Amino acid sequence: MLVVKKFGGTSVANKERIFNVANRCIEDYRAGHDVVVVLSAMGKYTDELIDMAKDINENPPKREMDMLFTIGEQMSVALMAMAMNKLGVPAVSLNAFQVAMHTTSVYGNARLKRIDSERIRHELEQRKIVIVTGFQGVNKYDDYTTLGRGGSDTTAVALAAALNADRCEIFTDVDGVFTADPRKVKGARKLDNITYDEMLELATLGAGVLHNRSVELAKKFGVTLVVRSSLNTEEGTKVRRGSKMEKMLVSGVAADTDTARIAVIGLKDEPGVAFKLFNALAQHNINIDMILQSYGREGTKDISFTVARDDADEAAKVIDENFSEYEKVDVNKTVAKVSIVGAGMQSNAGVAAKMFEALYDENINIRMISTSEIRVTVLIDDKNTERAMQAVHDKFALGER
Ligand code: ADP
Ligand code: ASP
Ligand code: MG
Repeated sequence: MLVVKKFGGTSVANKERIFNVANRCIEDYRAGHDVVVVLSAMGKYTDELIDMAKDINENPPKREMDMLFTIGEQMSVALMAMAMNKLGVPAVSLNAFQVAMHTTSVYGNARLKRIDSERIRHELEQRKIVIVTGFQGVNKYDDYTTLGRGGSDTTAVALAAALNADRCEIFTDVDGVFTADPRKVKGARKLDNITYDEMLELATLGAGVLHNRSVELAKKFGVTLVVRSSLNTEEGTKVRRGSKMEKMLVSGVAADTDTARIAVIGLKDEPGVAFKLFNALAQHNINIDMILQSYGREGTKDISFTVARDDADEAAKVIDENFSEYEKVDVNKTVAKVSIVGAGMQSNAGVAAKMFEALYDENINIRMISTSEIRVTVLIDDKNTERAMQAVHDKFALGER
């Protein structure tokens, strides 16, 4: 049996934790399995690297950021191999070049294209535990890239797919996937199962427990993921295809404060306006999320949309420089998205109304709304985020079985 085990930053934050992880991996190794381990940088080291970089240059080149980031994961894998060696088990650490993990060329947000598995297979045949750096890749210029924050989960799933692993376990600092972030919402409950589609929505909408692309890949290649704690032996949450499991109306609540709202006011109410606006933004690689167009009146209309908070100023600049047919642009960087996700809601009326009622009870104003078959998202003021999550979580009684 081949197992891929991924451990996040808190799980390898210090010497004691490193040995804890080493022992857990050795257990599988001694049971006769092939073990591939994927690690993140220790503790908050990636954040520290960002602080160091910004102290030198507040706008560092993305290529150099990736060059810097990769040392975090490289440190973890080397120390882990040393720990296993100390425990008498042969282990080898590999970085993205050594594997190699080929990605697209976008620094800071690369996508995995292909993984060469020969080197890993060769090391496994020598009965070594193979420890691979998460988060990083190599592009066609032979430069390091990274997969975006939290990307080590994606490395693990991609490796599990490439190696045809029997199991992919994501070890973290909570017991699994909960109905909401257990650090923010009182009474959040651990889920035993969740479907790929629900997990993908939750991860995309701010539930940082899994990198959203890891869920995308798991779904595409049919990798059953288990999310569990590195600090206990609880079973965790299975993320898998969704046929036989309970179809809960709502499975979870997620929030994302990495968002900003741009309102373009007084646009001409005529064909082509939305095209020109969003085309200009697309050409500058600015991703758009929720979009709301107002009812036209007296020949004008307003269009509001959300972007990642870091892109807000650039979006306003792009509009200013490429576009003239509007009265003004308003940028609001103090908003947040709160979402409910559930495979059961497609066949049930009234779910959205119930969410809005929970917000009304808390006197929280909704600025924008968007929905899909299995999700409802609202945009609110970010100061109300946790209160909104709690209220919605309580309204749907998600903490109770
Ligand atoms: P790691 O370093 O192990 O990758 P992360 O910090 O990336 O850990 O992810 C785990 C964290 O995700 C938890 O500590 C928790 O606060 C947060 N989280 C957010 N939403 C959820 C959720 N629905 N279920 C579980 N954890 C969540
Ligand atoms: N170390 C990286 C980060 O902090 C990748 C990861 O932890 O998954 O974002
Ligand atoms: Mg993570």
